[in-house]
Amino acid sequence: MLKIENLHTSYGPVEALHGIDINIEDGAIVGVLGANGAGKTTLLKSIAGLLRVSKGHTVYAGKDITNLSAQRIVKLGISLVPQGRLLFTEMSVRENLEMGAYLLQDRTEFNKRLDDVHAMFPILKARAQQMVALMSGGEQQMLAVARALMTKPDLILLDEPSIGLAPKIFDQILDTIKDLNTVRQTTIVIAEQNVKKILKIVDHAYVLESGKVVIEGTSEQLSNNEAIRQAYLGL
Ligand code: ATP
Repeated sequence: MLKIENLHTSYGPVEALHGIDINIEDGAIVGVLGANGAGKTTLLKSIAGLLRVSKGHTVYAGKDITNLSAQRIVKLGISLVPQGRLLFTEMSVRENLEMGAYLLQDRTEFNKRLDDVHAMFPILKARAQQMVALMSGGEQQMLAVARALMTKPDLILLDEPSIGLAPKIFDQILDTIKDLNTVRQTTIVIAEQNVKKILKIVDHAYVLESGKVVIEGTSEQLSNNEAIRQAYLGL
């Protein structure tokens, strides 16, 4: 579904990604793991068209999407849930969902998507008029995922959904993500530092260090890898 080939991205003169190769199969849940500053956010933003790629390619559903605008990439079916969620916290839940669908003109389709999202996250229907700033971290993360779903994506890129969440709440978010994948066959890429939990839900994962993939494999392979066990699992 998504093939990333020799991807390089720089911030001014400083290169942050030094030739990333990643393959994401249709319907998979794939982890992008690594410590602070490894390049996870840079990678997701490069895929989503929010950063300019200096070299290499991103091919999505057979189409080269490298350096297309973020808007075009959303229309093609890729949606990013950004780190820190970036919700409009002074606005209501409903208004945030409307912002998620701002590219959509068709009212019937909008209502259909809203019903769909409400079925998945009933709390967002119950709290439709509530100001987002008054919601808990877990509810806000659900809203961030729901806002991304309003674009009806085939591929969702989640950037560190665990940030600011208690472990139990993060587990609930992971259950929701798993459901999204199982029930709707949405392909998921999840960037996280929380390696232990992620290896329980992904099919395949890539470990980034200093802008490069250093290890990749199935979750079973990574869970049994000695270097991963020592560096990330504390075993
Ligand atoms: P984190 O978990 O902290 O978000 P990350 O794995 O997502 O880490 P990135 O944020 O992608 O890592 O950072 C990769 C590298 O790019 C780091 O060396 C970082 O300092 C650098 N970097 C990130 N954003 C910028 C920026 N706006 N300008 C300059 N350098 C940046």
